[in-house]
Amino acid sequence: MRSPFFRSAAALALVAAMASPVPAAINVVTTTEDLASITREVGGDRVKVEAIAKGYQDPHFVEAKPSFILKLHNADLLVAVGRELEVGWLPPLIQQSRNAKIQPGADGYLDASLTARILEIPTGQITRAMGDVHPLGNPHYWLDPDNGRRIAKAIEAKLARMSPGDTGTFAARYADFDRRLKEAEARWDAAMAPYRGLKIVTYHRSWPNFCERFGLDVIGYVEPRPGIPPSPSHTIELIQEMKRQGVKIVLVEPYFDLKTPNSIARETGAKVVVLAPSVGGEKEITDYIRLFDYDVNLVVSAIEETGGK
Ligand SMILES: [Zn+2]
Repeated sequence: MRSPFFRSAAALALVAAMASPVPAAINVVTTTEDLASITREVGGDRVKVEAIAKGYQDPHFVEAKPSFILKLHNADLLVAVGRELEVGWLPPLIQQSRNAKIQPGADGYLDASLTARILEIPTGQITRAMGDVHPLGNPHYWLDPDNGRRIAKAIEAKLARMSPGDTGTFAARYADFDRRLKEAEARWDAAMAPYRGLKIVTYHRSWPNFCERFGLDVIGYVEPRPGIPPSPSHTIELIQEMKRQGVKIVLVEPYFDLKTPNSIARETGAKVVVLAPSVGGEKEITDYIRLFDYDVNLVVSAIEETGGK
C-alpha cells in the first residue's frame, strides 16, 4: 500500500511536470549563413541560430568583432565549415568566448565537413609556392546540394543528442528538407543538363563541388594560385588559353575586384558572372535551396547569352 506521503509527492511531481515550461531553444552559432540556413531547416523553433560571416563576405577573411565573442559565449552549439576555411579568424574568437562547451573537440562543436564529400585533398607535400592551398581539401564543399543534405544529417544527429526529447521533430524536419531538396535538385539538374562539359573559368577555387555536380569543366582560374591576386603574366596566359578553348564564362565571387575579370572578358568576348557562393550573397537568397535557384538561373542565362555550348 502506498503511503499518503508518496501519493502527494507523486501528485506534486505531476503538477510540476505539467507546469514546467517548454525547454529553452538550443542557442546555435554558425560561421556562415549557409550553415545557419540548414540548421534552421532541421531545428525549426527548437533552435535559435545566428551566423557570424555574412553571405556577401569572403569567408576566408572575417573581421573579428566583440559582438561575435558575446554570441559565442552564449552558444550551446557552434557549427563550422571546417577544412581550415575559418582558420584565419575563428580560433581566437572561440578562445576568447571562454565557453568550454564550444571548444573544438567538445560536444558543442560541430565540424560540418566531417561527413561531407571533400574534393581537392592534396597528396604529397604542400609548399608556400602553391599559394593558400587548403591542406585538408577544398572547403567550399557546401556548393554541392548533396553535401547540404549531408550537413543537415550531421546537424540532425547533433541536435538530437543535445535535446533527446526533440529527436522526432528533428527527424521529421530533416525528412521534409530532404524531400524539398530532392525536388529542387531534379529542377537544377534538368536546367543544367544541356550544358554538361561546358568549359568555364572561375576567379577563386570556390566552385569545384558546384561544377562537378552540374557538369561544368573549370579550365583555369583568375587567381594564379589560391588566395594570390591576379598577375599580368598569369592573366595573359589565361586569356590565350580561354581563346584556344573557346571559354565564354568567368565566374566571380561577389567580394573580388572585377577589374581583371572585366579585362579578360573584353579580350575573350566572355561574360563575367558574379555568382553567389552563400546564402545572403544577394537579398533574394534567403535560404539554402534559394541559393542554388539563384546560381543555376544565373549560370544558365549567361550560357544562353554567350551562345550556348
Ligand atoms: Zn577558398
